[in-house]
Amino acid sequence: MNFLIIGGDAAGMSAASRAKRNMPEMNVTVFEKTRDVSYSACGMPYNIAVPGKAIEDLVVRQADVFRKKQGINLLTGHEVEFIDPARKRVLGVTNEGQKFEYPYDKLLIATGGSPIVPNLPGFHLPGVLTLKNLDHGRKIKAYIDEHKVKKAVIIGMGYIGLEMCEALSVRSIEVAMVKPNLTFIP
Ligand SMILES: Cc1cc2nc3c(=O)[nH]c(=O)nc-3n(C[C@H](O)[C@H](O)[C@H](O)COP(=O)(O)OP(=O)(O)OC[C@H]3O[C@@H](n4cnc5c(N)ncnc54)[C@H](O)[C@@H]3O)c2cc1C
Repeated sequence: MNFLIIGGDAAGMSAASRAKRNMPEMNVTVFEKTRDVSYSACGMPYNIAVPGKAIEDLVVRQADVFRKKQGINLLTGHEVEFIDPARKRVLGVTNEGQKFEYPYDKLLIATGGSPIVPNLPGFHLPGVLTLKNLDHGRKIKAYIDEHKVKKAVIIGMGYIGLEMCEALSVRSIEVAMVKPNLTFIP
């Protein structure tokens, strides 16, 4: 049986591990579009607060442990673009531009969520960043270092926004926070 999973973070990798534990003979393949799997997104604001601390410290289990110790066919840099339920296949492209197609018996979609970026002028400019995956965390840390950032605006006041406010403040960056109908300058 071919069990395919789209998404290689918390939900996808726990499902893959559990499937392999319960049914070792099952072929389990995970497609993850980034190069990172099984990381603690929750720790990113705390990591960003500490200059020079590697963002890779947040990886809970390395990709090769899933591959070599658990026998999971973990394919990083593989973005699924299309599901063909009639033919029971997923189709996509690798980070290197190679097309791929895999058959499945069972399919799990564990693609998580994505930040809502307002469709407004200027939101595509350098320095406008989102925080969802490790690559975003890397980019934010690199941007702060390269541009010696002194001021930041955070859009959104959920817990991630508040944790980032704390993290940036620890780094002596002045933060303003914005959400519709409310502006808060700590
Ligand atoms: C900064 C931050 C702080 C957080 N803090 C907390 C906290 O304190 N407590 C808490 O409980 N939760 C927290 N969360 C939320 C928690 O990280 C998520 O609930 C959890 O990551 C969800 O796991 P998931 O596997 O469902 O989805 P995700 O983590 O979103 O993983 C989905 C994966 O699917 C991949 N993917 C998406 N589309 C495709 C595709 N087409 N092809 C291949 N791969 C694809 C993505 O690259 C991603 O790796 C935080 C999140 C963030 C961003």
